[in-house]
Formats: sequence, C-alpha cells, structure tokens
Amino acid sequence: MEMKVPLLDLKRQYKYIKTEVQAKLNEICEAQTFILGAHVEKLESEISKYCETPYAVGVASGTDALILALDLAGIGQGDEVITTPFTFFATVSAITRLGAKPVFADIKPDTFNIDADRIEEKITKKTKAILPVHLFGQAADMDFITEIAEKNSLKIIEDCAQAIGSKYKGRKVGSIGSAGAFSFFPSKNLGAFGDGGIITVREEGDAKKLKSMRMHGESVKYYHDFIGYNSRLDALQAAVLSIKMKYLGNWHEQRREHARTYAKFLDGAGDIVIPYESSVNYHIYNQYTIRSGRRDALKAFLDDNKIGCAIYYPVPLHLQKCFAYLGYKKGDFPEAEKAAAEVLSLPVFPELTEDEIGYVAGKIIEFFKGAK
Ligand SMILES: *Cc1c(COP(=O)(O)O)cnc(C)c1O
Repeated sequence: MEMKVPLLDLKRQYKYIKTEVQAKLNEICEAQTFILGAHVEKLESEISKYCETPYAVGVASGTDALILALDLAGIGQGDEVITTPFTFFATVSAITRLGAKPVFADIKPDTFNIDADRIEEKITKKTKAILPVHLFGQAADMDFITEIAEKNSLKIIEDCAQAIGSKYKGRKVGSIGSAGAFSFFPSKNLGAFGDGGIITVREEGDAKKLKSMRMHGESVKYYHDFIGYNSRLDALQAAVLSIKMKYLGNWHEQRREHARTYAKFLDGAGDIVIPYESSVNYHIYNQYTIRSGRRDALKAFLDDNKIGCAIYYPVPLHLQKCFAYLGYKKGDFPEAEKAAAEVLSLPVFPELTEDEIGYVAGKIIEFFKGAK
C-alpha cells in the first residue's frame, strides 16, 4: 500500500487541542490585551517549574532568547564564546550580534553535541562563555562543560531551543548553566502559533534585568536605564503554549516510543547508524536523526516515495559564507563536516502511527536492498 508520511504534521496535534485553544484565543480577542500580561506570567511560572529553574522570562523568539541571555552574561565586543559548528544558524549569529567572536570546537560523532575534550584548547584570555547546544533534543556533556567553565571562570549559556524537558543526569536542561535559551518555533517539541521564546535563569536579579531588557531597558514606564530590546512574548502565544504544556510530557514519551520502534525496524538496514542516547540523558527527540554514507541517494529515494525527511544541517557553521571572516577552512572540524554529509532526520512527531514508522523503515530497507 502506498502511503505519504510527512516529516511533521502539526494539524494532527491541533485537532487534539482545537476546542481548548479556540476558546482561549477567543477570550483574549475579546479582552484585546496582547503584550505580556497574565497569560505570559502564567506560562513563565509553568516553564520555570517544568524546567526546575527559579525564573523564566518570555521573549519574542529563541534567537532573541540567545541574544538576551548572552547580553545578560555581559558578552560584547571583542569577547570570545566557544560553541559548536554543528547547530542551527541562530546559535552562532546571536554571538556575532553582540559583537563577540564565535570560536568553534568540534562535535562528538555519537551525540552530535560539542566535544567537551575539545573545549579547553580553544580558551584564550578573551574567552567569556561556553554556549553548548542540546542538539536534536539530547543534552550535551554538562558535567564536563561545567568543570571547564568553573576552572576558567566562564559563563555557560545553554541553547535549549530543541530540548525543552530534556534531562542530563536527572537535571532539566536550562537549569545547569547561568541561563537557558528556549524556542517556541512551531516545529519544536513545544511550539507556538508563530514565533516565541523564553529564557530560564536562577537569580532573581537576572530575571529582573531580562524583564527590563525586553522592554527597551525600562524599569519604570518611559524611564530607560539602559538601551534594551523590543522582545516580548504575546499573550496569544503564551495561552496556546500553556494549553500545550499539559500534554508535553506525553508527547515526549510518544516521540521516545517512536525512536524505540525505529530502532527495532531499522536494525541492520544498510549502513544506517541510528541515534545514540547516552545512558545519563533523557532525549526528547525533537529530531530523529540517522546517519548513512549514502545519505543523498537515500534522501532522493525517500523524497520520490513521498516520505518527509530533512537534512539538519547540510553546511556546518564554520563553512558558511557569512562566517568566512572567521578564517576557518574545510577540514578544521572533521566530525562536524562528516555529520553534515551523513545526517538525515526522519518523521518522529508524536501523532505518527506505528504503521507509518513501519512504512518509512520498510522504504529505507528497500533502498538498501536495491542498492546492492
Ligand atoms: C530553533 C533554534 C533556534 C532559534 O529559535 P527561533 O525561535 O527560531 O528564533 C536557536 N538554536 C537552535 C539550536 C534552534 O534549533
């Protein structure tokens, strides 16, 4: 039987929460209060509880969450921030936005996350922070990163955009560094109906500063203590997110179940390497990312068979045209480059059925049989 399997189908999730969401949106439309307010405060308190971090401050996007968190950490002109070259663009552009310089350290081939053993050699007098990314929903090696940061008096800002609810040794991401930056982009595990983001912090003073930062540096209306940003979360988004929060834990579990199903079906298929989940992690599978040396041909085959799949990410950041000024060249980060050539993300959204997973895996097996 022919099937079409999308990479992500948000309509299935919407169907499930439609009545609740429409009632809430209607209520806000009647009230006509859209910027910050009670809905945002409610979400901030829910997220801080969920992320086991004392404070959470809503902002306009995950990108802004990174920029404001870096700014809060005092990152600016001439500073260096160590991060991974294998991530979404915004991790690195946020560093450059503040006039600081991104310094890359290669990744580990199993988790795709920054290799803590490669961080120390990158530290200079200008290094101010480490920005680990919990890529695809799996936490980076936070103990090692924390040890290096403490030894060298560096801040840690966690890029949790793909990893809300993900755990490292039982601790929620975003609660380990000095700040955690989260995204509510619709394709994340907790997605809004548009852009949105949030920052988790442990200190009350930091939360206060962020709340002023997102309001043009105001503490009192129209009195600007410093030059801040216009970066707020909408009431409409916060209300949708609060509804989704109730189901988030179940959705993570469904994604994890899909990962186990894929692992069973894909066992021994061609040269496929299935995702590795470290035993100290709770992976939330924002992406289910396999590796294959025949990735491009496999992707073309899946495209032809109407199976949604995508390459996150085809070009590591050190080889992007816009970062040529940093002076990196091909071969500088072999693991990141190899990953970029081999990764392929498959459908893993919660509402996917076992039949669909079986179909996707069956097509992958068929590809490798035909390839022999
Ligand atoms: C999505 C994402 C961001 C940016 O979030 P936006 O809400 O799209 O601005 C940053 N870093 C990573 C790793 C992401 O996946």
